Amino acid sequence: MTARRKLIAGNWKMNGLKADGLALASDLAGRLKGAGVVAFDMLVCPPFPLLFPVHEAIADSPLALGAQDCHAKTSGAHTGDVSPVMLKDAGCRFVIVGHSERRADHGESDAEIAAKAAAAHKEGLVAIICVGETEAQRDAGQANAVVSTQLKGSIPEGATAANTVIAYEPVWAIGTGKTATPDDVKAMHAHIRAELDGKIVEPDAVRILYGGSVKPGNAAELMAVDNVDGALVGGASLKADDFWAIGVSC
Ligand code: PGA
Repeated sequence: MTARRKLIAGNWKMNGLKADGLALASDLAGRLKGAGVVAFDMLVCPPFPLLFPVHEAIADSPLALGAQDCHAKTSGAHTGDVSPVMLKDAGCRFVIVGHSERRADHGESDAEIAAKAAAAHKEGLVAIICVGETEAQRDAGQANAVVSTQLKGSIPEGATAANTVIAYEPVWAIGTGKTATPDDVKAMHAHIRAELDGKIVEPDAVRILYGGSVKPGNAAELMAVDNVDGALVGGASLKADDFWAIGVSC
């Protein structure tokens, strides 16, 4: 089996003002530095206004910085949007694209997500492409088909194991406290791994994260599942103790 280093990614969503965000990021950066060699990569994705100050606060640590979305263009008349080159300028190495909350709140299509991921790649950013079915789709037995369609539409030309991470986040498990069972996660991650063949260079080396109510109490079990190469964590990434505990459970 290809060895894949786990990635523990914190998606702060629309949470955190400057003081709290800096305290959280500095705390994690300090723990990572103090721990020396660890078995996982750690990433925080704060809201846009916090990217520059958080970058400064963690610059001398291995804690990586990412954003929660980007536009597909470099600049221009796109009020309210932020481009990949701006994210790079702010110190980001990663950007989440296609999160289900953006698909739902902003009507983002697979094609738009692929364009965003391609734009991120052009700037040397790693795109974390999110996929996942709704509860109704799972109940109707369509989970695999929905995720296959999302992967086909959202992964751009030129995607590689180095510039792309996939996050499987069943919509019904996000922020609900419900978590997919290890068996369901195992089956879906194997399905995703198989689907990456022909869509991404070096499919066996691509990291596939699980997301949806990951917390210290379930992280070890989920991270031990085949083809689970880390976690995309929302609520539990807002507390340094919880997020750190998820990391060390790898
Ligand atoms: P959650 O969110 O951990 O709060 O369920 C995960 C996500 O949406 O990335």
